[in-house]
Amino acid sequence: MSETIQSGTLYIVSTPIGNLDDITRRAVFILGGVDLIAAEDTRTTRILLDHLGIKKPLVSYFMHNEMRRIPELLQKLAHGLSVAVVTDAGTPGISDPAFALIRAAVEQDTRVIPIPGASAVLAGLVASGLPTDRFVFEGFLPHKKGRKTRLDSLRAEPRTIVFYEAPHRIERTLGDLAAHFGDRQAALARELTKKFEEIRRGTLPELLESVRSTPPKGEMVIIVAGCARKELGQGNSGSESEDTHHGEELDDTGATA
Ligand code: SAM
Repeated sequence: MSETIQSGTLYIVSTPIGNLDDITRRAVFILGGVDLIAAEDTRTTRILLDHLGIKKPLVSYFMHNEMRRIPELLQKLAHGLSVAVVTDAGTPGISDPAFALIRAAVEQDTRVIPIPGASAVLAGLVASGLPTDRFVFEGFLPHKKGRKTRLDSLRAEPRTIVFYEAPHRIERTLGDLAAHFGDRQAALARELTKKFEEIRRGTLPELLESVRSTPPKGEMVIIVAGCARKELGQGNSGSESEDTHHGEELDDTGATA
């Protein structure tokens, strides 16, 4: 590797979302070279490091200890240590506790270097078959407060929408999505890169029926088609396409340019 490990630097290291071979050579080099690895779950990361033949000091960094850990890690960085942050899966900072550490490091003018790699949002999106030219990532929907407001705010969203969801909430969430977005095309991408990888495609009501009859297990991403022109009450003249209006300009009134 032509690179050298930089002192006083926070490396954001992407790790696999299932298949342990989905890791870049650069990520392996960085994990093997830094002074310290901050991991969301040290047991999960230890399995990966063992697979890679790397022995390194690990410190836990997760949602419930982040307020204590952030100042400790920033102090180590200020003293010149190199630190890699990793989470249980994928790219740290995307819907996981790494965001708070990264923001604090940026605020302290600590050098931050991203090491790109797997992320469930992109793997799910590209396998869905839905338009990828423009998309929005919504992460996890709020469980209670703000859920309906969030869904209402997305109703006229023309871009493909990507959500993360846990298996025990999938039926409720698909029910809410079907109620808000009707019979739009969607995909449920489950256990990506793992042995039981499965991608179910269909309308939202069809996916809801599918999860009711065969409840899916494991980790999952939901991808929903954006709002089509016909849903906005346009395109009824027969001359307009009923496809989603990806790539077209919408003015403030929602009319296409
Ligand atoms: N930072 C991670 C990333 O870059 O994808 C995401 C972390 S978030 C806490 C975990 C969520 O990602 C899961 O609940 C699931 O929605 C999604 N996810 C992670 N691994 C997945 C996989 N192998 N297949 C499908 N979804 C996955």
